Amino acid sequence: MVNKYSKVDLAKYPFTREAQEYIESLNLDIEDLVSPEYSSVLERGRERVMEALESGYVSYRDDAYVELLSFPLARLFVESLGDEYLRRRYAVAESKRVDKLLENEENDKPIRIARETFGWDIKKESQRVGGRFYEYKLNVTNYLTYAPYFQDKYWKLVNRVLDEGYVYLRKIDVARLISEAVKWRLMEKKGKPPDLPPMIKEMIDTIRVKLENQKKDRGIDEYFSEVSRECFPPCVSKMLSELHAGGNISHQARFALTSFLIKVGLSVDEVIQIFSNVPDFDENLTRYQVEHIAGIKGGGTKYTPPSCNTLRTYGLCEKNEFCKNISHPLTCYRNILRIRQKGVKKQ
Ligand code: SF4
Repeated sequence: MVNKYSKVDLAKYPFTREAQEYIESLNLDIEDLVSPEYSSVLERGRERVMEALESGYVSYRDDAYVELLSFPLARLFVESLGDEYLRRRYAVAESKRVDKLLENEENDKPIRIARETFGWDIKKESQRVGGRFYEYKLNVTNYLTYAPYFQDKYWKLVNRVLDEGYVYLRKIDVARLISEAVKWRLMEKKGKPPDLPPMIKEMIDTIRVKLENQKKDRGIDEYFSEVSRECFPPCVSKMLSELHAGGNISHQARFALTSFLIKVGLSVDEVIQIFSNVPDFDENLTRYQVEHIAGIKGGGTKYTPPSCNTLRTYGLCEKNEFCKNISHPLTCYRNILRIRQKGVKKQ
């Protein structure tokens, strides 16, 4: 096989078809990896997962060989632990890395990855519209597979420049869409992992300890994985949009939103950050209220978000097709997550 990508490219984008083919061509067995010559690969694999847990971002290192081989290992570690929170957190962290690397590419690598790894119908075509310079156009079907997951109204189809079934994009848009596609791909379950040598099991145990502690510290509900904002129910998305736009929301909405966000896994600081846009923002007061709802202050009760009936009486319901036969926004969130995951798998 003639590789069109350099080793560095494969290391930067180990999810690509070319990288997978290269790794397969090495014919490595899991038993091979416990030999001393692969110790740095093993350690980097573990580190990738630890970075995802600790900072939510997987860094990029210069050693191309180690970087490339450690990717499938990290996935193996994640898969072996079989934890939804970890799977999602790892997928998000790797996707952020991809986004950043692609944004800084000087050439047409994004377009090649989009075509060859994800099969997108994408073309290079420069166009200046309304003061924005676009470099690519993507088939609207491909666009709509991932763009609806983004909250920002910039991504709404009605706000995009369209041309005969194609959406004009900037390079950073393509990077963002590819990174989203990577995230969903990494969230797919890979099936039962193989029997692992004791040395690898020990490494996985160190990740397990970190994972369990983090989930305990953050009060992560077992039921939910890492927060997926694009799958929030419409009522929650509406409240968030109002805050993003610098507007204010009622006391009932603040309670509903905060209790929902805490329940699905956002930290107190992340919730405070969301409220920092409101005109009357008072950090101390907001912290007190959020910590109270999270059960850190007061009687230690972690509040459950209100039901759909209650939200309806407050005028906060924004019912849409995802809300059929549900009585709680958390159920709506879980249902959208499942639908999205199935939808992406079918592609
Ligand atoms: S039905 Fe429930 S989940 Fe859906 S928008 Fe209304 S309150 Fe939110």
